[in-house]
Amino acid sequence: MEGRRVIGWAARDSSGLLSPYSFTLRETGPEDVVFKVLYCGMDHTDLHQMRNEIHMTILPLVPGHEVVGEVVELGSEVKKFRVQDNVGVGCIVGSCGECLSCKSNTEQYCDNRILTYNGTYKDGRPTQGGFSSLMVVDQKFVVRIPEKLAPEQAAPLLCAGVTAYSPLKQFRGSKKALNAGILGLGGVGHLGVLIAKAMGHHVTVISSSDKKRVEALEHLGADAFLVSTNAAEMERAANSLDYILDTVPAVHPLQSYLPLLKVEGQLILVGVAPQPLHFSSVDLILGKKMISGSFIGSMEETQEILEFWAEKGLTSMVEVVKMDYVNKAFERMERNDVRYRFVLDVAGSNLE
Ligand code: NAP
Ligand code: ZN
Repeated sequence: MEGRRVIGWAARDSSGLLSPYSFTLRETGPEDVVFKVLYCGMDHTDLHQMRNEIHMTILPLVPGHEVVGEVVELGSEVKKFRVQDNVGVGCIVGSCGECLSCKSNTEQYCDNRILTYNGTYKDGRPTQGGFSSLMVVDQKFVVRIPEKLAPEQAAPLLCAGVTAYSPLKQFRGSKKALNAGILGLGGVGHLGVLIAKAMGHHVTVISSSDKKRVEALEHLGADAFLVSTNAAEMERAANSLDYILDTVPAVHPLQSYLPLLKVEGQLILVGVAPQPLHFSSVDLILGKKMISGSFIGSMEETQEILEFWAEKGLTSMVEVVKMDYVNKAFERMERNDVRYRFVLDVAGSNLE
């Protein structure tokens, strides 16, 4: 049917401030799911994008890629959902369907993936994200929210959760007792702690200050806490970790963290540093260490992390806020003042 007018909150200039913005949804086709947005998580990537730090930003830009909604309409070919189901959409809403990545169900690595916002849809129009009242998405990029999961709990899993889960999945069911490091305790990091713990790993949080120590140990169940600026503490922890999930969204000195890894340990980068990171080759060579990167997860893994959360009875730590607080919330995220994910109550907000 003809695209409908909806209202979202958009960045319109380099200030990155969001304000109400009315736009038209694309026309729906037989493969599409139309849903009313209930909740949407706020990711640090939204900030990077609003500020043009990753790639060219198309303005006006409606962010939001941790979207949970309730189905209001289904295309004629959509059989796996029903009206009123709770569904989720993460970072991508399209891919070519033909390349090696698409054919091996790792469509997040397709060169022609379409980002949920700040992308260009097949019809040539800019995509807009979940800080809006209604969305239309191809069923292949829509997941089912398990009934046991509250929608605001599910939201952060759709990007932050799967970003931690996808690279950690390789360690699931490992026969060795693994020592995990989670570097940066923010949205992605706190879910990383919960996932690694649920996989049975011994988890050390590596944080830039002492402020989150008690929460990390008592609320999130981490086993140890290291402050990266405390040289003595860092030295004592040398050669102790099998892997580090690095979620830091800024330039940081890798030479401080690589010595924490055991021989053959892995530093997995998921945090996006807006400028190049540096390391010394001997830090890798003397220890056969590895630096790798990982981008969100596949649609299959997104469904898996939702089921994993429900099955293990895990609880993400979120602060639910209304849309009129969104600019303040980004400001607080930037100041590292959120425990640990803001989730926007979109349906409960006045968007006008
Ligand atoms: P966030 O909530 O802001 O958390 C980042 C954490 O990193 C902070 O809580 C802080 O933890 C630490 N940190 C912040 N600035 C730092 C600095 N200058 N030096 C050292 N540590 C610092 O962000 P997020 O939403 O979790 O996202 C984290 C990063 O992952 C962002 O760059 C985001 O774009 C990226 N991301 C990537 C993917 C992917 O697919 N690869 C997906 C989602 C997000 P402490 O207080 O513990 O130090
Ligand atoms: Zn492809």
